[in-house]
Order: sequence, then C-alpha cells, then structure tokens
Amino acid sequence: MTILITGANGFIAAHCIALLLRNGLSVRATVRSSQKATSTRAALAAYLSCTSTSTSNSPDGAAAAGAVDLSLLELVVVPDPTDVAQIRPAVAGCSAILHLASAFTYDAAPGEFEEKLLLPALKGTTAICEAAAMEQGVGKVVIMSSFAAVYDAAKGLQPGTVYTEGDWSPMTYEEGRDAQMVPAAYRASKVIAERAAWDYIRDHKVSYQLVTLCPGMVFGKMIHPIESLAQLNASNQIVWEVLKGENGIPPTRAPVWIDVEDLAMASLKALTVDLPTHQRFLVTQGSYCTQEIADIVRKALPEKQDRIAVGEPGKRIHETHYSCDSSKVQQVLGVKFKTLEESIVPLARQLYAME
Ligand code: NDP
Repeated sequence: MTILITGANGFIAAHCIALLLRNGLSVRATVRSSQKATSTRAALAAYLSCTSTSTSNSPDGAAAAGAVDLSLLELVVVPDPTDVAQIRPAVAGCSAILHLASAFTYDAAPGEFEEKLLLPALKGTTAICEAAAMEQGVGKVVIMSSFAAVYDAAKGLQPGTVYTEGDWSPMTYEEGRDAQMVPAAYRASKVIAERAAWDYIRDHKVSYQLVTLCPGMVFGKMIHPIESLAQLNASNQIVWEVLKGENGIPPTRAPVWIDVEDLAMASLKALTVDLPTHQRFLVTQGSYCTQEIADIVRKALPEKQDRIAVGEPGKRIHETHYSCDSSKVQQVLGVKFKTLEESIVPLARQLYAME
C-alpha cells in the first residue's frame, strides 16, 4: 500500500515516515517547496542510515530489520495543501492518508489568527476529506487532531476530571478568531478542523474510514530538517525553556504529553489495523510538569546541573489538574508508551548539542 503523509518536513511527520518506511510501506509525502523536499529527504536518509531499527513498539512484536529502502519514499511538492485541486493528484493511487500539515505556531498576533491558524487547519482537513472521497482506493483517512480538541480549557485545571475520547472542546471558530492569546486560537484551529472531518463523513457517503488521533504535547528527539534552535517546533520549545535555564522553572501549560515515536506508532497502527468503524483515539502517556522535566535532566546530565533551575525538586502538579484515559489506544491499537525520562533525555542531549 502507498500512504500519503501531508506536512512531511514537520517534527511528528518525519517520525511517522521513518516508521512506515522501516515497515516496508511506500510513502508519498507532501511538502510546500522543493527546498523542503530536498532537506526532508536528506534528513530522513541520514537518520535511517545511522539508527538501528529496533523499537519497543514494533508492530506484531517484531522489529523490522535491515536497511531501509529509500526508493519507497516519494516527496511531492504541493504549495497549498489546503487547495483540493492541488492535493488531489497527491492522493491519487494512495490507499490511506495521514494528515499532519497544519500550523502549530504561537507566532501570530490578534487579528492574524484566522489567516495563520484557523483557515489553514479547517481548509486543509476539508480538502483531505474531499480529495479522499474522490479517490476510490482510499480506505483510511487518519487526521492528526489534538488533545486541544478534547479538553475545555475555559474550565481551568479541573482536578479529578478524566478526559476520554467522548469529550469535545466547546470552542468555536469565532472564539478562535477573536481570541486575545494565540494558544486559544491554536486550540480552536484543532477543534474546528477535527469537527469538519466528522461533519464531512456525516454529510457525505465516503468509502473510507476516518480515524482521528488526539495527542497531548508531543516531546522527543527530532529527526526532521531543522537548522537551529530558532526553528524549534512548538512542543519541544516547552522542554528547551526549562533546559536553557534563563527563566527559572517556567509554568506548566497543557500538562499531558506523549512521546513522538509512540505517536508515530499509533499513527502506523491507525493506518494499517482493521477497525470496525470510524474511530477517535486520545493519545497521551500521562501528565508532566516542567519541574519534572528539570528533575529528570538534572539527574541524567549532571554536567548541566548548574544550568537548569533547581526549583522544588520532586514537586509535582499532577494531582492539581485533569487527567486522561488513554486505555483505548493501548487496547485497540496495542501502543505502548515511553516514560518521560526515555523521551526527554535524548531530546535534551540533542538540544544542548544543537546549541
Ligand atoms: P511542525 O511545526 O513540526 O510541522 C507542521 C507541518 O505543517 C509542517 O510540514 C508545515 O509545513 C505544515 N504547515 C504549517 N503551516 C501550514 C499551513 N498554513 N498550510 C499547510 N501546511 C502548513 O508541527 P508538528 O509536527 O508538531 O505537528 C504536526 C501536526 O500534529 C499538526 O497538525 C499539529 O497540530 C498536530 N499536533 C502536534 C502536537 C505537538 O505537541 N507537536 C500535539 C497535538 C497535535 P511548512 O514547514 O511548509 O510550514
């Protein structure tokens, strides 16, 4: 089968592509420029040539072994993946789609949220649903939504509340457009985009299954093309804020997380496992806080102890806020989760080396 992945040069997408290739699947992957195609192929080739293929999350319990065939990877330039006319040729001939291309950035000011966040998310998801419906061979459409589409940020920390796949953020397009702060606009972009996908399959007869994945903050080592820390993706930026040690222990926001390789495995399983019907999966390992990140890295990298703020070692905020029930993704897709330490320490080494 050939799988289409949108937004191939992104943090999460690169891990998804690498995992699919390691499992012998053909991947067609979209980027918005030919330069990004070149840098993405180079980054993936470098990563795949120098890493062993074993992973605790290997499908069917067995790691794919041996060299990865990079001829299985086709990179295509789609300047505007929110335009159905542009994305449709990329969809042609694919049996499944993993849609990741969407703006996850806090680099937008009030007044710009519609153009920079809401419309790309909404139009991109709708274009994928439409293009997939036009191509009979597409059997699965997996949309990377977010925990942002699940929880109600307006309700605050809600200790004792356990979120599941049945929960939906009540945020509207208008609330995102008129928000005062960019994180609220980003959260709205995710919920309106995921709702659009569910609305699409409700209102149209489609021959594919829809699967939406709702991950918490995604952390982990980066294998996508990135030239400097100035280009750090939004979620790993949270870790770097702790590690660079300039502002003490920063406050924890959106305190649930997942490792990027585990999310890639959930994506692979969502694309390939037979499911009885359309599905929504919450994909979070558990809670984290910035103090915990500081404690982990101070212990694992003693040479950085003078750099990272001490804060209040051992203090955790987990009991003070909501949590998530991710048992469905573990049971149905068989995904195992790394610990925060297993995810953060390799990332910390990489971030300091990049600096
Ligand atoms: P990255 O910023 O690393 O990658 C984003 C990708 O989307 C890039 O390929 C980028 O292409 C593309 N993109 C950005 N803006 C647009 C736009 N306006 N139109 C079309 N494509 C665009 O992000 P992540 O890998 O972290 O995120 C990937 C997906 O996962 C997103 O949908 C995000 O919302 C979702 N997600 C991420 C989480 C996280 O913690 N990282 C958590 C939950 C969900 P280009 O380089 O050309 O801009």
